[in-house]
Amino acid sequence: MRAILFLLLSTSLFGIQNNTIYENGQLTFSSGNLHEIRDDVETSVRGYLSDIKTKLGHEAAHEFPLLKQVNGFGESEHLVFQQTENDIPVFGKTIRVHINQKGLISSLSSNVRSINISTIPSFSKMDAMSILKDELPFSKKSYLKYKELLIYVKNDSPHLIYSIESISFEQSRNNLVDAHTNEIVDLFPLTFDEGPTTGSGVNLLDEPVDLLHIYEGEAFTPFGNIATPNLVCEEFCFDYGDCDGQNYWGCTITASQGDCLDGELEDCNGDCFSEWYMQFPGVGNGFCNDPWIEIDDSQLSTGMYNMVDESHPELGTIYTLNSYGGFYEDLSYVNSTTTNFELVNITNSHQSGVSAHDYQRKTLDYFWDYHNYAGINGTGKRTISVVNYFSTSSISQRNAFYNAALDILTYGYGGNGYRPFCAAQDIVTHEFSHGFTAHTSGLIYRNQAGAMNESISDVMGYFVEAVYQDGGDWTEGEDVRYSGEGGRSFIHPPSHQQPDHINHYYFVDYNPNPLWSNDFGGVHTNSGIPNKIMYLVIQGDEHYDIIVEPFEDDIVQSRIVAGNIWFAWNSFYLDKEDDFDIGREKMLQACYDLYPNRLDYYQTVSNAWASTGIGSPILSGDVNDDQVVNIQDIIIMINIIMGNWDATDTQLILGDINSDGIIDILDIVGVVNIIMN
Ligand SMILES: [Zn+2]
Repeated sequence: MRAILFLLLSTSLFGIQNNTIYENGQLTFSSGNLHEIRDDVETSVRGYLSDIKTKLGHEAAHEFPLLKQVNGFGESEHLVFQQTENDIPVFGKTIRVHINQKGLISSLSSNVRSINISTIPSFSKMDAMSILKDELPFSKKSYLKYKELLIYVKNDSPHLIYSIESISFEQSRNNLVDAHTNEIVDLFPLTFDEGPTTGSGVNLLDEPVDLLHIYEGEAFTPFGNIATPNLVCEEFCFDYGDCDGQNYWGCTITASQGDCLDGELEDCNGDCFSEWYMQFPGVGNGFCNDPWIEIDDSQLSTGMYNMVDESHPELGTIYTLNSYGGFYEDLSYVNSTTTNFELVNITNSHQSGVSAHDYQRKTLDYFWDYHNYAGINGTGKRTISVVNYFSTSSISQRNAFYNAALDILTYGYGGNGYRPFCAAQDIVTHEFSHGFTAHTSGLIYRNQAGAMNESISDVMGYFVEAVYQDGGDWTEGEDVRYSGEGGRSFIHPPSHQQPDHINHYYFVDYNPNPLWSNDFGGVHTNSGIPNKIMYLVIQGDEHYDIIVEPFEDDIVQSRIVAGNIWFAWNSFYLDKEDDFDIGREKMLQACYDLYPNRLDYYQTVSNAWASTGIGSPILSGDVNDDQVVNIQDIIIMINIIMGNWDATDTQLILGDINSDGIIDILDIVGVVNIIMN
């Protein structure tokens, strides 16, 4: 196992693996350690573009004028080259080159194309302006303004274009007039109402989504700059390596170090980060190079309409970003030129964006409507989702994860039978709920605490699907697989290699050295146990000879009771390092505090846990709790009725057979019946 990890590490230290996308035989996206910058940046980049100009599909790709060169995070740089033909710019066709902090070209995107068109106009710009005057109704205050000659590609056909603005009080447009035919090829509105609006789209299941909360324009409140910590320092001993890329096996992680508050860590840059950072796979351990998530939101590209949801500011803004096949390299707000997001082309991000954006809205609404929990942290913090990342050497694109330090949800691109991972409501809610847990109980991601953390995410996913998908289903993640098969089952966890009892073959024993390689002590395995408990209390069943009555016969009511208990359990009762035994106690307490008069609920919770091997079941009538109902219990009950003894809470639960709140002669009759049966 060590050898494997070492291998992963040594590749991850020197950057991500190569990834290249071609469309119609032309390179459109490429990432990896593409080229080393030497001396002058622009000259060096042009040299590289010259090397790959054939792949880019344009012999002059290395000679295009530099449109923009900006410094990004740290030493990183972004260069944009404008495609031109005979010095005439081609509208919207660029090559974007990104240089990382190590001085390497780390990604490149291109939409240039070969253009075969005469660049000598057949009509003059005055001809073009006169046709606009004829065709467009203008008031006295309107006027025309010539902008430039350009090449515009519409439906794959290039046009030589005069770009002319028509300005009026009511409406301003950019008109594109063909310089060879003198016809209006296209027009864009120049003014539009900036602000929150609504749109529609098509999600990854090819379902129409009629209501998307989006933002017209780019005047929305930015979320700021965020970066993961530069965690691994020479001075501190981590188990995967240090700043100079050396590995020291067998070290232990110290959660608190440097000049930070308790519960925080100091990184190589001297910044403090919550120790929570270390709890999640793919977040802390194993990433001992530079900060691997760097989002400088001023660098993100936007469109006319952007997936930014400010519709419920008290629950925080939802930002949905597209990774466009890279890994936090080429980010943009998912955007569209109209209010419809329905391009069925995954690299265009619309379908992934629609799924993530819509499911996140529903998740926030559920947490607020049912539990008064606002945003990802309970007090209205924004939610950021990043969709369509591709694999790096250590992170699979067939996964999704929550970044605890940044409160960011991230969904892989899928592939090999998988849709992008934001295709499923329960997975979107699952990732968000890791945030819910991080900001409430803080259950650590190890052993049984981690298994409860994982299960709580699965369970919340079930609740949200149930509300928005007509009762939902008892599987998790079925919508990300084209086969429709779920990844986990609440009804029968062993069908997906999870235990449904602590004595089950699949149960993972406590691991004193929880690591990514052992799933932190089986957090994704043992979660089957609390998942099964959730199923039992809502649906009711007999499990390993113990009968669990559902909370309510009506499953909708039963689900609401369970939702309240699970939410309170995680929010107010559980602690960071709790295990299943304490978890059981605390769920019983949460149940009793929420429903003091519903001792039947208490019995349901107790028996559900007992049926998985944790604690003992509550037998009605067993007032001395010796797991058998007999004459001893009747003697105790008589003494309680006579006033000789005060009944404890437990005895009230056990002895109040007819659930009328007191122990009396009718309950004795009930116990006699139990014994006689
Ligand atoms: Zn999870």
